[in-house]
Amino acid sequence: MARYTGPVCRLCRREEEKLFLKGERCYTDKCAYERRGYPPGQHGQRRRRKASDYGEQLREKQKVKRMYGLAEKQFKAYYVKAARMKGVTGENLMSLLERRLDNAIYRLGFACDRAEARQLLLHRHFKVNGKRVNIPSFLVSENDEIEVLEKKREVGKITDALSGVDRRGVPAWLELEKENFKGRVKALPTRDDITTPIREQLIVELYSK
Ligand code: SF4
Repeated sequence: MARYTGPVCRLCRREEEKLFLKGERCYTDKCAYERRGYPPGQHGQRRRRKASDYGEQLREKQKVKRMYGLAEKQFKAYYVKAARMKGVTGENLMSLLERRLDNAIYRLGFACDRAEARQLLLHRHFKVNGKRVNIPSFLVSENDEIEVLEKKREVGKITDALSGVDRRGVPAWLELEKENFKGRVKALPTRDDITTPIREQLIVELYSK
């Protein structure tokens, strides 16, 4: 699946919001959005007209897609799945995205951002319920145990990320045993567990046209 490999800070500037795609740097004054909080490009600093309804819906979808590091086709597939589930489609969509294993690893603090979590996963650094898993899109379920392989516990990226976890915090649906390099899914994530400001209803409106 093709992934965006260009400059990620540009994505935050385009969405005019911090998407936290670059680990610890996002919390420092080196953050590109803090320094240049306007869209990239020649006309980035021009005063903009109010976006149309479609424009707002599109930007919200692009923002969430970029936050979770997904391609359009993958993102749409999550929407289709969410629409088929019982309950509110937007909330289902957000819950599905949060349940991705790369996201759970990031949220538990084993990686500084989702791209790093994805890379560590692909390099087979984690076990889920005792079995090695290297699939970023694996959906975690209630009571799943996520663990760093014993021989990978000295990996700098993991120890560095864990050292910042207290500041970033672990969401209520997850439980971290930092000293044992383990985490557990206490319950499936609900909409209230996702504190990032996201208007998922706009995404549903966009796709249901
Ligand atoms: Fe976005 Fe992080 Fe880059 Fe800041 S440092 S612009 S939050 S990716």
